[in-house]
Order: sequence, then C-alpha cells, then structure tokens
Amino acid sequence: MHKTTKNLVILGSTGSIGTQTLEVLEGLEKAAKDTHKVQNAPETQDPSESAKKNISFNVLGMSCGSNIELFIEQIKKFCPKKVCVGSKEGAKEVKSIFPNLEVLCGEEGLIELADDKNADIMLTGTSGCVALKPTLKAIENGTDIALANKETLVMAGDIVTKAAKANGVNILPVDSEHSAILQSSNGNYELLNKIIITASGGPFLHKSRDEIKNATFKEALNHPRWHMGKKITIDSATLMNKGLEVIEAHHLFNLPYEKIEVVIHPESLVHSAVEFKDGSTVAQIGTPSMHIPIQYALTYPSREYGIKSNSFSFLGQTLTFEKPDFEKFPCLKLAFEAGKTGGTLPVVLNAANEIAVHKFLRGEIGMGDIFKIVERETKNHTPIQNPTLDEIFEADKETRQRVLNDKTR
Ligand code: MG
Repeated sequence: MHKTTKNLVILGSTGSIGTQTLEVLEGLEKAAKDTHKVQNAPETQDPSESAKKNISFNVLGMSCGSNIELFIEQIKKFCPKKVCVGSKEGAKEVKSIFPNLEVLCGEEGLIELADDKNADIMLTGTSGCVALKPTLKAIENGTDIALANKETLVMAGDIVTKAAKANGVNILPVDSEHSAILQSSNGNYELLNKIIITASGGPFLHKSRDEIKNATFKEALNHPRWHMGKKITIDSATLMNKGLEVIEAHHLFNLPYEKIEVVIHPESLVHSAVEFKDGSTVAQIGTPSMHIPIQYALTYPSREYGIKSNSFSFLGQTLTFEKPDFEKFPCLKLAFEAGKTGGTLPVVLNAANEIAVHKFLRGEIGMGDIFKIVERETKNHTPIQNPTLDEIFEADKETRQRVLNDKTR
C-alpha cells in the first residue's frame, strides 16, 4: 500500500472553510485506517481496495483570528508544531495552555507560519488581504496553495500567478465554481475555449431594482443555497462575489474576460462548466457541499475521499439558467470592467466594496449605497499598471480609509 503524508499549513482554521478543512482531514484519516484494516484482513481481497492509495495529512501549522476557544480544541486534536493568533492577548492565552508550542502573532507571525520549507501545501482560509504576503512566502518555498481566499488573486493576480509559475507551484482553487472548472478540465486549462461560471443569483434574484436598493441586511443575509460568512453572503446578494470570482478565474485559468461567461443558475447544482476548443462542454454537478472542493484541492490530482456529498439524481430535477441582469446587479458589471482594465483597479474595487459591506452590516448605509461607493471609488482612481506589492497595498489602504471616513451615503 502506498501511503503518502502531506504536510499542511492552514490559515484561518476556525473559520467556515478552516473548520470544514479539518473535517475533511478527519474523514481522510478514517478512510486511510479503514483501508489498512481491509488490506490486513485475509478474508477480503478486493483488488480495487488494495490498489487504493491513501494520503494523510500532518498539520504543521494553523492560524486563527479571535476564536481562541475553538482554536484550543483544534490544537489539542491536530497537534500542530506552530500556530499563529491574531492578537497578542490571544497568543498569550494559547501559550499558557501549550507552553511547548511555538505561538506566533499578528501579520508577521502569519508570514512566519507560511515560511516553512517542510510544508507541501497551504490552505488559505482567511478572508481579507492579510493572506497575500504569507501566500507569496509559501510560493517562494515551493509550497502548493489550496486557495480559498479571494483577495489573493483579485489584488495581486499577476504577481501571484507569475511567482507560482516560476516556482513550479500549483494554485488549487477551493471556491466551488473554480473547483468545478478544475474538476471539469482536470487542470488542462490550455485546452479551454471558454468557461461558464454559475451564480445562484442570491436572495434578490427576482426582486426589483428598488427593492434591492432598500433591502435590509437581514434580507440580504438570507442566502437561499449556501451558509457562509456575513461578508460573502452580502457579496452574493449584490453579485459582487461573482464579479470577484470572474477576476480570480481570469488569473487562475489564464483566460481573457471575453472568454468568461456568468450564468444565473438558481438551483446551484451545476457548479460551473468549461467549453473545450473542440466545442465540447463539460460541467461539474453535485449537491452543494464545500467539503468536496476542499478535499479535491488537498488530494489533487488523485481525488481521494473521506467525505462524500449526497448523490445527485437527474430525475425530478429542473435545472434553469438565465442571463445575469447587469442593470439590477451593477456590481457584477463594475467587476468585469475593473478586471479588464487591470492594474490597481481591482484592488480599489475590492477595498471599496469590503468597507461598504461592513458599513451596510453596521446599518450605516443602504444596500444600494454599496454599488454607489464602489462605482465612485473605481471611477476616481487612476490605475497603476503592473503595480508592485507596495503600490497594491497603498491603493488598498487609501481606498479603505477614504470610504471609512466618508460620512455621506
Ligand atoms: Mg463561490
């Protein structure tokens, strides 16, 4: 039996993606043990089982923001060598419980956590731009990236993909749509003519423009298909999430924006599709589950499983598709435009949107103001082409401050 152990670093282990990643690891561990049992039992000689390879994971490092209680439980279970905590107080608390553990802290600590030459793969489950520098550090060391962080490619797609190519590093998407494209193409992106990214349409799909403008955050948080963090749920309601995914897809699959189509698919069963250059289309279908894309990225290309999604049946299903309404969901249009212009413009789009969403969640602005703010910021910005990392962070910071300090709606 082949047994491979991969060393894994997890950024953001207590978040939605992080906790599901740990569930995937437990599932794979259990599957490996079961296979071992089957192979050592003389009465069962199933050749398909004995041919099965098993990857197990050794958690080298993990980080958390502020959920210390859960983090402590996770450390007990997964025994990492190094951890990083968002705040100094949190780091102290963790250190007091695990005196022999290396406990790092803050953004610098996160870079140190990522800077581990023994790591085979790093999963970036943190939200926000804090993952960008650690990701580049891991890439420098030849560590593959299981990418669940949007900002990495939206802000610095050119820099990150160039570094990955230079270091022979795989960037394996965890987001369900990009995972569907990886699964459908098996990574043969050079054979693709175009990709079709599906969107559920969010809770406001069939509401009027005015109803969307005046929606409360309670209505916006009521996503019909996926249970996710608050920020991404609002982004799904405005379709900005889809816009950010389009920019990510452009970098991940090396396709021009004209070859990226967004299709509304309220049932969320087709997770995305690819059209090959020969005209054949392959789609990935399944009941919504984030475990599958996480598991696929971690075990790629061998597609191992410890967790299965519920089986999909074509019978009794109606799959519907429609064009996105760019008038009703102008954020999607803004994202396409920002992506096409490139340079620092997607940085500004992302930063303005993030602060606007937080203001909306605090009840300071209306839903319609999110678009207005992002539109104003992107219009007023003169993009820098081929920006350095410093110029990217500068554009990000300036935009955030301006939106934060702006008291008008
Ligand atoms: Mg998605």
